[in-house]
Amino acid sequence: MEKQKRLRDLKGRFVSIFKTEEDRIARKRHLCKLRTRRWKEKHLEKCKRRSKECTQRRWQKILIYSRQYYKKNAAIKKVQRQAYLALKRGVLKKQDCIICGNPKSEMHHENYDRPLEVIWLCPQHHRRRHLCPELVIF
Ligand SMILES: [Zn+2]
Ligand SMILES: [Zn+2]
Repeated sequence: MEKQKRLRDLKGRFVSIFKTEEDRIARKRHLCKLRTRRWKEKHLEKCKRRSKECTQRRWQKILIYSRQYYKKNAAIKKVQRQAYLALKRGVLKKQDCIICGNPKSEMHHENYDRPLEVIWLCPQHHRRRHLCPELVIF
């Protein structure tokens, strides 16, 4: 390795002169790492607290979301059950898929506020209807 010329800076400390660009970059990277580590050590409590808060917030969001999801899901399940019971009692009549005429059809609700308003769709068209609700099929 080439011997480095040493100079002193204004405070009298030794300053290395780097000959190559790589040396300079490596030194810079090292300093940057050092600074980050020092900052982290200095602000350890703050860092910990912040990450804890962040985690808590994330969990709260998940909790709220899953609660809403569960509620919505429960409502849908209830409506589906009502329709199923209506079918059993003969209030509703099983029909073929209104698009392709497939007799293996399922009940689909356009509006979950009206449990007895169902559309009969085969599994394939049912899935499509849910994936793309704006699809005009009538
Ligand atoms: Zn459906
Ligand atoms: Zn169909």
